[in-house]
Amino acid sequence: MASDGFGVLIDAGLSGRDLEERLNASGINPKSIGALILTHDHRDHCHGAGVWARRYGVKLYAPAGVPAAIAASYGERTLNRVKVEEFEPGGNFAVEGMEFASFKTSHDAHASVGFRIKNGLATIGFATDLGLVDQEVERALSGCDMLYLESNHDEEMLRKGPYPYFLKRRIASDVGHLSNSDASKLLRKLVNPNLKGVILGHLSETNNDPAVAYGEAHTALALEGAEEDVLLLVARQSVPGRIVDI
Ligand SMILES: [Zn+2]
Ligand SMILES: [Zn+2]
Repeated sequence: MASDGFGVLIDAGLSGRDLEERLNASGINPKSIGALILTHDHRDHCHGAGVWARRYGVKLYAPAGVPAAIAASYGERTLNRVKVEEFEPGGNFAVEGMEFASFKTSHDAHASVGFRIKNGLATIGFATDLGLVDQEVERALSGCDMLYLESNHDEEMLRKGPYPYFLKRRIASDVGHLSNSDASKLLRKLVNPNLKGVILGHLSETNNDPAVAYGEAHTALALEGAEEDVLLLVARQSVPGRIVDI
């Protein structure tokens, strides 16, 4: 995400090298990324964070306690020589004219947040890795111009799929991940006259199908009469997404 040429990277689940390749493939100069912001301490969100922050000398913003949790889980040196600014989950901070209002998400990490991000021109809602949607989440994401929403799994595919029972329970639980149908229910509530685009993200490669996730969200938009006005995209794990201007 970028504002006035200043880019921020929210989460760094890939290795430093893969992140560079993805950005370059999208025509984004990695040096334009001026800050790294983490939602939580799971590996699929912080794997390349230390390497990236050191290589480019950018500051890392993370929920309080998350850097310590990363060091405890992945090694004391993971965030060595990284400039870290911690914020309270639910608290706000600013990065180069962008205001980040964080909100707590229900997820089984040390601390886990989503963001409502404003730069004076547009508002973006970012919510991934959440087991349930409560009023705080709904409020934080209301009235946005653009949304990035988790649409992790199809409930039936998860139920019938190959994952072990404990993992199925974890994913479907209130501290797991948002299903396509939960994401669609939320999306119906978030349709508003400013909404220009929705990106569905954090799709499981085992328990979801991009066409199914798209179809459910499209139906949600259609039920609100917004399917023609709102650009709907599905982010994939294996390929960089397209750039959207708002
Ligand atoms: Zn997670
Ligand atoms: Zn995740």
